[in-house]
Amino acid sequence: MEEKTHNSSNVKRKNYLSWDETFMQMCFLIAQRSKDPNSQVGACIVDQNNVIVSLGYNGFPRGCSDDILPWARGEEKKYSETKYAYVVHAEANAIYNSNKNVKGCKLYSYLFPCNECAKTIVQTGIVEVVYAEDFYHDKEEWVASRKILETAGIKCRQYLPQSNLREVLCPNEKQHTNNMPANTQLNNLKEEVKPEEQKRDAMQEVINFQNTSPTPKKPDDELSQFIFENISMD
Ligand code: ZN
Repeated sequence: MEEKTHNSSNVKRKNYLSWDETFMQMCFLIAQRSKDPNSQVGACIVDQNNVIVSLGYNGFPRGCSDDILPWARGEEKKYSETKYAYVVHAEANAIYNSNKNVKGCKLYSYLFPCNECAKTIVQTGIVEVVYAEDFYHDKEEWVASRKILETAGIKCRQYLPQSNLREVLCPNEKQHTNNMPANTQLNNLKEEVKPEEQKRDAMQEVINFQNTSPTPKKPDDELSQFIFENISMD
């Protein structure tokens, strides 16, 4: 029997971004707005229809100049001389920036939220947290955060990078197989559960790639334009 051939224009495209991938990419993108010299974190809140209702990144409160308050981390400094006294975390900023009530929404964040953000997440009715990294897992604030989120019944899950991310982001990049160390690791991630460290390495590769690769012109430009025209976070 003759095999049925599909008309390519009639078949759904296969390598489109998943929702998780899309919203995590939004987190990575908006994180680049942060003025923090050491840590750029982004968060994205979406409603039940997967419509983005807010974005946030780590920064000082509105009206507080980025040039006046300190960005220092130094343990030897007084608390009021470090950024920790002033910075609003990406997750909290995303909640404050929201265009509508975030009750029932999902929050995507590059990092697992701290205890302060966890309180805000619970109090505003967010029902799910998707995070990429849990770097501070053993710190007291994060131990407390897990307790808060677990007790309040907030679903938390880790995002794993899509295996064909690079192809999706740079479909025309001819040489991508030559300089693509992350690809193998990312493909492997799909097939087996990797130890935490390897997942972290793969994630870092994706971030490095995003930071160093030439930006694909149109889509990103349009996306940035849209974000910065519609969401004011200065
Ligand atoms: Zn936080």
